[in-house]
Amino acid sequence: NSPIHVPAHHIALQHLDRVAIKDNYGSHTYLDVLLKAVRLANLINDTVGPGKSQERIGFLCPNDSTYVISQWACWAAGHIAVPLSPVHPPSLLDYYIKDCNAALLIASQKHSELVSALKKTVGSEVQSLILEESWQQETNEKCMSSQLDSILSGTKSVNFYRDSDAMMLYTSGTTGKPKGVLLSHRNINAQVRMLIEVWQWTKKDVIVHALPLHHTHGVINALLCPLYVGASCIMLPKFDSKTIWDHFLNTNVSREEKPTLFMGVPTMYSKLLAHYDTAFGDNPRTREYVKASISNNIRVMISGSAALPEPVFHKWKAATGLEIVERYGMTEIGSVLSIPLDGERRAGYVGVPSPGVSIRLVEFQPSSLGAKANYRVLFETSHEQFSSHMKNDKIISGDLLIKGPNVFKCYWNKPEATAKDFTADGWFRTGDAAQFDNGYFKILGRLSADIIKSGGFKISALEIETHLLGHPEIADCTVFGIPDVTWGQKVAAVLVLANPEKSIDLVALKKWCKERMAPYIVPSEWRIYSELPRNALGKVNKVEFAKVAFSDQP
Ligand code: ATP
Ligand code: MG
Repeated sequence: NSPIHVPAHHIALQHLDRVAIKDNYGSHTYLDVLLKAVRLANLINDTVGPGKSQERIGFLCPNDSTYVISQWACWAAGHIAVPLSPVHPPSLLDYYIKDCNAALLIASQKHSELVSALKKTVGSEVQSLILEESWQQETNEKCMSSQLDSILSGTKSVNFYRDSDAMMLYTSGTTGKPKGVLLSHRNINAQVRMLIEVWQWTKKDVIVHALPLHHTHGVINALLCPLYVGASCIMLPKFDSKTIWDHFLNTNVSREEKPTLFMGVPTMYSKLLAHYDTAFGDNPRTREYVKASISNNIRVMISGSAALPEPVFHKWKAATGLEIVERYGMTEIGSVLSIPLDGERRAGYVGVPSPGVSIRLVEFQPSSLGAKANYRVLFETSHEQFSSHMKNDKIISGDLLIKGPNVFKCYWNKPEATAKDFTADGWFRTGDAAQFDNGYFKILGRLSADIIKSGGFKISALEIETHLLGHPEIADCTVFGIPDVTWGQKVAAVLVLANPEKSIDLVALKKWCKERMAPYIVPSEWRIYSELPRNALGKVNKVEFAKVAFSDQP
């Protein structure tokens, strides 16, 4: 456990002249980012003092190079980076800042008023550092790498080790108040390294990045993976379908600058397809051109954070020629399952364990049992052992448990929640149900909201959603269980119609369902909404929404 260089800095030192970030302000080399990070680290230490303990430092930066500068500065100063989103309402930011007891807020000039307001509500202890616009500008700095090396060592106010705390990410808040997930440098390194191997990242890659940067998907998968191999990241200020298609089809850049990779949550792919239909859909020659350009340049497109509806997988393939790689992950553990790049791209599945990750499927049990509870293992595997199971064609379903160096340290200030989520023998309970089926894992959904217990059956809401989204008149939907005196729970669906002007014939819809689904999984309660309440990652808090949508039910 000897002091280390933060891997990000270490990698940057090897790629100083390469472009790390491209944003609305220009191209920023690894050297530019690192030099600014070191400068900011010194300011951080001047402000919070070279304390012995690691402080939480919140940063509110747009999706541009200042985000990376702030994150690397926190690490260079030996503190804990807490990325916050400027698009969050002040009340939520106030919750995050108080929850993690931040010592300092870093923000771009644009958000200085927000920071002043937050300092008032949070209390005077939190200090602030506002980054003038010059921090966002592209620079052309020169510095010897040997000098940088020594500058970096000089910035540390505390010795940090592989196990030192590095970052706190908040969960998406799909099932309640977001929880602070504390990750060490070792955790982050493990989470990033496994994905570099799974998705075969190299420094030649260029990713188009439009994900929120306060969540694991945007930070670990889409930002730190490229930055840990010396690749480039095109950071877009926000998700906008047209801008993303423009990047995919950009002919004004050299071959080396063309995007090779894209990552999105399922709702992003749906929105990109809607834009495709309006912008290119009518003209067969344009469609051919789009398909050829995309499949020539982009080597992989990845989806995660929520289940990718199968119709989206198929439509995307028809439009771009690419089969989306689906993966499964959590803030607490990173992306632990992914369709292998050279394996079968089976829609609706999340593939095989990532390197270093061990997986157990255990008999279903209520989460309230806690750490002490015994459990029965139904199936166990790991990336390293995996090939021996590939021919296994038995379907095994159960609660998904995870072990590995990627697993987070703890929930911040929530010892009971941490204790509840680990078994006595150190496995993390994901709270999701999964199935192992002919060599690949499939996610059945959250035990708390997606697994409907009706008349002795355990029904996956995700499976029903996939069916419903295949109906031409349904644009979006969410499915969950609601209380039922006879069956325990009954299946309920809320639909968003493709044509809001028209209604849907429920009798015909039920008949359509019965032709495709087991009779006991066909929803018995239906509601129509014009839109679903989805959070920043496109997810619905089903427990809360069920109460609203079916408030008239007993
Ligand atoms: P909170 O923990 O605050 O309720 P959250 O669980 O949505 O929010 P995240 O850590 O961002 O926060 O999301 C992890 C969850 O997302 C997983 O537990 C799983 O339920 C879901 N998920 C992620 N990837 C997939 C996928 N490919 N298919 C189905 N579900 C997925
Ligand atoms: Mg969660």
